[in-house]
Amino acid sequence: MSDIITTRFAPSPTGYMHIGNLRTALYSYLLAKSQNGRFILRIEDTDQVRFVEGATDVIIDTLKMTGIDYDEGPGVGGENGPYVQSERKDIYGKYAEQLIKSGHAYYCFCSSERLQSLHDENGLGGYDRHCRDLPQEEIEKNLAAGVPYVIRQKIPLEGTTSYVDEIYGEVAIENADMQDQILMKADGYPTYNFAHVVDDYLMHVTHVVRGNEYLTSTPKYCLLYDAFGWERPKYVHLPLLMGKGEDGKISKLSKRHGAVSFQDLVNEGYLPQAITNYIALLGWCPKETNQEMFTMDELKREFSLDGISKSPAVFDYEKLKWFNSEYIKALPDDEYNSRALPVLEEICAPEVDKVKLAGLLHSRIATFGEIPERVEFVTKRLPMDTELYVSKKNKTTAESCKAVLVDCLPLLEAADSWDNDTLFAILKDYAAEKELKAGAVMWAIRIAVARLGITPGGATELMEVLGREESLARIRLAIDEI
Ligand code: GLU
Repeated sequence: MSDIITTRFAPSPTGYMHIGNLRTALYSYLLAKSQNGRFILRIEDTDQVRFVEGATDVIIDTLKMTGIDYDEGPGVGGENGPYVQSERKDIYGKYAEQLIKSGHAYYCFCSSERLQSLHDENGLGGYDRHCRDLPQEEIEKNLAAGVPYVIRQKIPLEGTTSYVDEIYGEVAIENADMQDQILMKADGYPTYNFAHVVDDYLMHVTHVVRGNEYLTSTPKYCLLYDAFGWERPKYVHLPLLMGKGEDGKISKLSKRHGAVSFQDLVNEGYLPQAITNYIALLGWCPKETNQEMFTMDELKREFSLDGISKSPAVFDYEKLKWFNSEYIKALPDDEYNSRALPVLEEICAPEVDKVKLAGLLHSRIATFGEIPERVEFVTKRLPMDTELYVSKKNKTTAESCKAVLVDCLPLLEAADSWDNDTLFAILKDYAAEKELKAGAVMWAIRIAVARLGITPGGATELMEVLGREESLARIRLAIDEI
C-alpha cells in the first residue's frame, strides 16, 4: 500500500452533481490534502445502460468551479490511468479469472428468465447459487458452446466478515446473509462492485471515502481484497444528507426540499465558494474553533477525520443563504458587477442607473437570483399603500408627506443635475428652510418614489437610480394619490 495517503472520488456520470456527492468529493479531497496526500478522480461508467452524454464534463466542471483539483484523473492524466472505467474495460477480466482459479468466483450461465423466476411478486429474492458448484466438464462445455455467462463472487457460506469503519466503527455481516454478487456482466463489463475494488487497488487508494449506502456492502468488497491477498484500504463512510420538509419532517435530501444539484444552486445565484464552504460543515466541524467561514486552503489545513460526525446532517437552505450573502459581500466590485449587471440590464429600463443600483444591492442580497424580486420596485410602479407615509420616528402622516411632495416637486424639477449629492442638497436645504427634520422630508420622497417601505438605499439614492423622468413622474403620481 502507498505510503502517502491517497483518496479518490469515483462518481458515476449521471448528468448532474448531487450536493451529497459533491460533499463526498470535498471530504475525500480534504482528507488527502490535509495530509499532503494524493487525490484521484475516477469516472465509474461501466453501467452502459445508464450512460448520459456529457455527464463527465458536468463532474469535471463542478470540481473545477469548487476548487477541488485532482492530482490524477481524466484530462490531467497520471501513472495509474486511464481514469474512466469504460476505457479500462480490458483490465478486469484477468482479475476475475484469477478469482475463479483461486476458488473465490465462478461462472454463472443462468438465463435472465431463470433469474427472473427466482424473484417473488415484489421483485425480491436472491440468486440461489445454482451454478456455484457446476462440474468442470459442464463449465467447459458451456464456455466452448459460447453460452453467455456472468462471473459471480463465491461468498463463504459460514462465518462473519467485518471491518472497522473510520466513522461508524465495527461493521460485521454474516457471510450467509450476503449474495453471490456479479463481478463481471454478460456484456464483458465489470460491475461497480468489482471494478471499484480492482481500481482502488491498482490506483493505490489508501482511504475509500463515500456515502454510507455502501456501509453494509463493504464486507463483500473486503472479501475480494482478502481473496486477492491485497491489503484492505481504510473505509470512511459519510452520514446521509437530509432535508427538512415543510412539515418539519426530516428525510433524505431530495428535490422536494429544494435544489439538490450543484448546477441548480449555481443557477439560483449561489456562489461555488459559498456552496463549498457550507457543505464542508455539513457533517464535519473543526476541532478547536467555532470558525464558519473557510477558504479552501484553510479547510485543507483544518480538516480531519475526527471532526466528522456520524449523525445525519440536515441541509439548511437558510444557512446556505447566509453563507452566500457573506461571500457576495466579500466579492470585489468588478466580480460582483460581472454577475449582477447582466441581470439588471435585462430587467431594468434604459434610464435606470444599473451600476448605482447594483452598488445599493451589493451588501443586501443573499443570492443573485434574488435580484429581480429585490428591484421590482424599480422595474414596476408598485401599488401604493398610503399607510407607508406614516412614520412615528419621523413624525410624518400622509398629509404632511403630501405637503412636502408638493413643495419639493418644483425644486427637483429645477435640479441642474440628477445625482445623489445634488438631490440631497436640495432636500436638505428645503428641510432647513421649512424647519423640518431632514428625515421627515427624505421619508416622504422615498416612499413616493419607491412605493415600498423597506428599500436598498435612501430617497436621493433611489432617485438617482430611477432617473429624472421616472422619479418626477412618481412624485406627481404620489401627490395625486394622497
Ligand atoms: N460510483 C459509485 C457512486 O457514484 C462510487 C461509490 C464509491 O465511491 O465507491 O456511488
